[in-house]
Amino acid sequence: MSKLHVYIDGTWLFKVVEGNVFDRFLADPRYFTIDFNKLNALMLQHISKQHPECTELGNCYFVTSLFNVPADFDNWVGKRITHPYSGQSITVTQRNIDVTKQNIADREKFANDAIAAGYDPNCIFHIDLQEWMLLNLLHPELRYQEKQVDTTVVALLVRDAIEHSDDCFALVAGDSDILPAIQVAYPNYTQNVFPVLTSPNERDGRNRQTSFKYSQYNFQIDTLVLQTHVGDIMAGNVYQCTECHKYFTTRTPIDPARIASGAILPRCRHCH
Ligand SMILES: [Zn+2]
Repeated sequence: MSKLHVYIDGTWLFKVVEGNVFDRFLADPRYFTIDFNKLNALMLQHISKQHPECTELGNCYFVTSLFNVPADFDNWVGKRITHPYSGQSITVTQRNIDVTKQNIADREKFANDAIAAGYDPNCIFHIDLQEWMLLNLLHPELRYQEKQVDTTVVALLVRDAIEHSDDCFALVAGDSDILPAIQVAYPNYTQNVFPVLTSPNERDGRNRQTSFKYSQYNFQIDTLVLQTHVGDIMAGNVYQCTECHKYFTTRTPIDPARIASGAILPRCRHCH
């Protein structure tokens, strides 16, 4: 018997959920979020194909940064904010404030969902929101570089992999830049570490490079591709629409016996 340990770059996974990565599989993308218990079950099922002896979860880490909203945040409206490096600047609007507050609340809820599913609560960095970070939150291309998240994921994974070399390790992180560090510190990583990514290859332009870089590393365990399991990781009462094959959720569960007997053919709101 061995264990599966899990290392999630929570900042990246939040962006996957928020950034419309799975939209084409969803009838109503606004309501999509990840159920971390379902994700855990999927990862265990995935590893059992190549490592049948790996049957239970070990350490589960969800690493991310959460921002503390300043007490006078609403008074920032009208402030001129300039980015220290890029020189880009904006005048803060009430909408900027509202969008930022919502984003911070959504990130916090996502982290709390992970913690409720058993992820270690001690890997959350609490950061006081600085003026210039507001620019980054509003312009994702300037995003606040959460180096502390990447480095923590590497440190935890390498520590555990050395300590429990007979176990398996799921690396849920879209940034392939962390692979060289893992490779150097734990050369046996190809044997028992596997990546969890969103898409396998060229379909999604934004992820193409990531998947390619991951493929340069000879992982012996197959990559778990989340886009082929959207219905398995989605929170709620999940059904696949009979017509458009997209996933949707219902407020109350549909009697499984009625689906099995064909009395009900699940249909999304658009096809109903
Ligand atoms: Zn449909």
